[in-house]
Amino acid sequence: MKVALFGRDGKVGAVLGPRLAEAGHVVLGIEVGEEPDLAGCDAAVDFTTPSAVLANARRALRAGVPCVIGTTGLGEDGLAELDTLAHERGLRCLVVPNFAIGAVLMMRFAEEAAKAMPHVEIIELHHETKLDAPSGTAKATAARLGGNVPIHSVRLPGLVAHQEVILGAPGQTLTIRHDTSSREAFVPGVLLALERLASLPPGLTVGLDALL
Ligand code: NAP
Repeated sequence: MKVALFGRDGKVGAVLGPRLAEAGHVVLGIEVGEEPDLAGCDAAVDFTTPSAVLANARRALRAGVPCVIGTTGLGEDGLAELDTLAHERGLRCLVVPNFAIGAVLMMRFAEEAAKAMPHVEIIELHHETKLDAPSGTAKATAARLGGNVPIHSVRLPGLVAHQEVILGAPGQTLTIRHDTSSREAFVPGVLLALERLASLPPGLTVGLDALL
């Protein structure tokens, strides 16, 4: 596939770009201020910033290019707009708060555990340059647990991306924890998303679960 990669030089983009090329994709890397012609691209992948992602996705969808979005911090209005734009053009728009398989499993296990242990809180810990808080993964986890779940955010050097879901009951706690130690963790999920994007219905899909 020919893949437009918004955020080419970012922490994720710099790892992802070469790995997409190794997997046989032709990568059109895009950074701030660059507006190359997207015609002929089969998909656009976005790992930029909460303030840039919506404009990038609008541009791609208007050019007839389906989207795979990893950038977090898109609000409900932004998601609704992308859903409408994608539907209007019969395109897919996949938004994935976390491409790491372990994080997807953490969310599934937490959902299962909360059925028996409903008192639950989330601690998410990320590198100090992460712009949004709480993280997209924490918000997605909370939504799956019924929405009303306290989230605590930690931002420190030395961290990459980590989350604990702590469930409490009298005399016991259960902690479900996922740690990302390298951005390589996100690569297989993005490759899978590109491979299976066409199998999704047109419009917006949120989460990698739909493809697993
Ligand atoms: P980062 O290191 O700050 O990289 C973002 C990159 O995007 C920077 O190179 C930035 O350039 C560039 N950029 C900004 N505006 C742009 C635009 N309009 N067009 C093209 N490029 C633009 O951040 P990161 O750690 O790679 O993370 C990127 C996003 O992905 C964040 O929202 C993060 O939360 C999310 N993320 C998601 C997952 C997942 O699994 N879904 C995993 C990790 C991270 P400048 O530096 O020049 O501004």
